[in-house]
Amino acid sequence: MTHRCVTLLSGGLDSMLAIRIMQEQGVEVEALNFKTAFTCCQDQSGQAARMLGVRLTVVSQDDDYLELIKKPQFGFGKGANPCVDCRIYMFERAKHFMEQIGADFIVSGEVVGQRPMSQKKKDLRTISYHSDLEDLLLRPLSAKLLPPTLPEREGWVNRDDLYDFYGRGRKKLIQLAKSLGIEDIPSPSTGCALTEPKFSQKVFDLVRKQPSSQPWDFELLKVGRHFRLDDETKVVVGRRESENGQLEFMHSQAESTSTAVLRPENFQGPAALIVGPTNSESMNYASGLVLRYANALDTTEPQVEILTQETRVVVTPVVDERIQNAKTLAD
Ligand code: SF4
Repeated sequence: MTHRCVTLLSGGLDSMLAIRIMQEQGVEVEALNFKTAFTCCQDQSGQAARMLGVRLTVVSQDDDYLELIKKPQFGFGKGANPCVDCRIYMFERAKHFMEQIGADFIVSGEVVGQRPMSQKKKDLRTISYHSDLEDLLLRPLSAKLLPPTLPEREGWVNRDDLYDFYGRGRKKLIQLAKSLGIEDIPSPSTGCALTEPKFSQKVFDLVRKQPSSQPWDFELLKVGRHFRLDDETKVVVGRRESENGQLEFMHSQAESTSTAVLRPENFQGPAALIVGPTNSESMNYASGLVLRYANALDTTEPQVEILTQETRVVVTPVVDERIQNAKTLAD
């Protein structure tokens, strides 16, 4: 009897290998790619699924995913990446998908000891346990270092033909890939912005200063230079033309938490948003930043338009020492 598994496919080498190993054992594979709001746009899962000849289903995070970033049960990695919680979240969804399509077990390309945050043996146990998959989550690349799972004990897959990879080295994985006909080896990358130190600074600022932040606030982290004025107020300045448009669009959305949008009135420069109270202090600060980042100042009397929901005011910005020295949370 042919058995069916659901394999998480990121498009990286490990998940591709996990699929190919299952195919070699005659197991039917359904690939599942999990996207978060922080997944890099250069996702290679589609290409990998085509190459491997498997059907791919893409699932996205729900809003509750953000709660993991605000308060992860198992902590953060080096950046704002709550990898253990995130993997549990992914596998819970994979389990649901497995039940929906009537598959028998889940497969993942995790390698023991490869990532310090989420792939130590104890992390893998935690992930399997908390996603309620303890006996049904098979990691073929390191299976021989882990207790046998139900698919191995029942003979759905042959444990002798599984592997004992350990650690970060890729050389042997690449050799295996070539021997299994995978020629196009993807370069290693988490593809997740939460692991990037600069982006993480913005995430930590948001979750600490705005604990009730919503998906819109997290989306805003991807756009512009972010300046924190005080605990309640942040100013975001566009870095290029496309971001100016993006900021204005985001401001117009129903779920926006920005209170004002700023545009240069008589010079070329960036758009900006105020997130937090709009008052004389935040308007002076934000308009000064718009002037600081002006591209071309061909007037001696620059002016900045500030639009709130009820009012339109035009101010003369001043770049004082504080604005000149203002540091971004991260560029
Ligand atoms: S790197 Fe990002 S997507 Fe991957 S497990 Fe960690 S938090 Fe999740």
